Amino acid sequence: MTALDRAHVWHPYGPMPGLVDPLVVESAAGVRLRLAEPAHGRRELLDGMSSWWAAIHGYNHPVLNEAVRGQVDRMSHVMFGGLTHEPAVRLATSLIEVVPEPLRHVFLSDSGSVAVEVAVKMCLQYWRSVGRPQKRRLLTWRGGYHGDTWQPMAVCDPDGGMHQLWSGVLPEQIFAAAPPAEYDESYAEHLRELIARHADELAAVIVEPVVQGAGGMRFHSPRYLRVLREACDDAGVLLVFDEIATGFGRSGTLFAAEQGGVCPDVMCLGKALTGGYLSMAATLCTPRVAEGISRGEVPVLAHGPTFMANPLAAAVACASLDLLLSRDWRGEVAGLEAGLREGLAEAAELPGVKDVRVLGGIGVVQLDHPVDMGAATEAAVRAGVWLRPFRDLVYVMPPYVMGAEDLAQVCRGVLAAARAG
Ligand code: PLP
Repeated sequence: MTALDRAHVWHPYGPMPGLVDPLVVESAAGVRLRLAEPAHGRRELLDGMSSWWAAIHGYNHPVLNEAVRGQVDRMSHVMFGGLTHEPAVRLATSLIEVVPEPLRHVFLSDSGSVAVEVAVKMCLQYWRSVGRPQKRRLLTWRGGYHGDTWQPMAVCDPDGGMHQLWSGVLPEQIFAAAPPAEYDESYAEHLRELIARHADELAAVIVEPVVQGAGGMRFHSPRYLRVLREACDDAGVLLVFDEIATGFGRSGTLFAAEQGGVCPDVMCLGKALTGGYLSMAATLCTPRVAEGISRGEVPVLAHGPTFMANPLAAAVACASLDLLLSRDWRGEVAGLEAGLREGLAEAAELPGVKDVRVLGGIGVVQLDHPVDMGAATEAAVRAGVWLRPFRDLVYVMPPYVMGAEDLAQVCRGVLAAARAG
């Protein structure tokens, strides 16, 4: 199978044909992935990645399985133009109950990148509709990641992202310096000054609140969110929070925006929205944004993917949110944080390690050199753990349901990967 895979199937950020044999996963249950063939002596691996932040309840969960089964027997898909259905309406109303006020309107799409495209389109269309079409640029801070389609790519970190490859092709956006971990008034002033200076051409500021994920796994003071909110209000600029990675509890609060005590005008959700079962994302906005668009020359939001609001995904998203809220997810994430702090502490003493940081259910070991992906992955697999290091980072974000013993083993896998990589 791997020969066919390498010959024909693209993998994320991969060459064609593939250069390395990926591991073949046969099934997954709870916090374990089961391989079709043993790799480095292991048939089962503890999952340190939650399938890129998504599988917060673990795999093969009976409640989520039942939600999909129940829905597939009723209808797996139906177009959303001119039609609606209970799972979509229930999901939208459930989301509105848990996100910060006054986010009240929900656009359901199929992936995080598309949710960001929709967010950008909402903001640009808002300004066009209210008679200020020159406000069409975006501002963000360095070190971010917002997805791989066009508008998201333009606001990814210009050094770590694909900007060099696409310079002259991607829309040129405005970048502030990367946010420092601790609050720094001079950095806050830098943000205020940049937003004020570009106010006439800025449609929106877009950032990942509190945690910058795939752009570098960095954390920053939530106080900057308030600075952004105030600066955007003063300058007449919309504020977009991309909570695709942080949403649904990963950083310790249900949404990272809560830590800054502010609400954005537009918010993007994805990944853990369906508990990692199916691809679905959401772009939420305030009545002000929706009403602005509706007053325009084209009084509709001009976007409508074929699989918009897919009923299977919406049904499992409802079940995932109910499941999360029915459990002590705060306690679970706090438990992950404590276990990661303890288990990763000795990484700080390892040669070649630059920084060790933990927030909520996220643990990061940053090396002082680019990680040797092959060696680091192999060392983790030998320790019975699945990790996917990148750049100079070996990191974990386990499913919330992982117990203390398994978490300790995952931490040993991270240490082994950091030593080998
Ligand atoms: N925004 C953030 C913050 C992300 O972490 C990601 C994915 O890693 C995306 C957007 C893109 O989401 P997707 O991969 O579902 O397109």
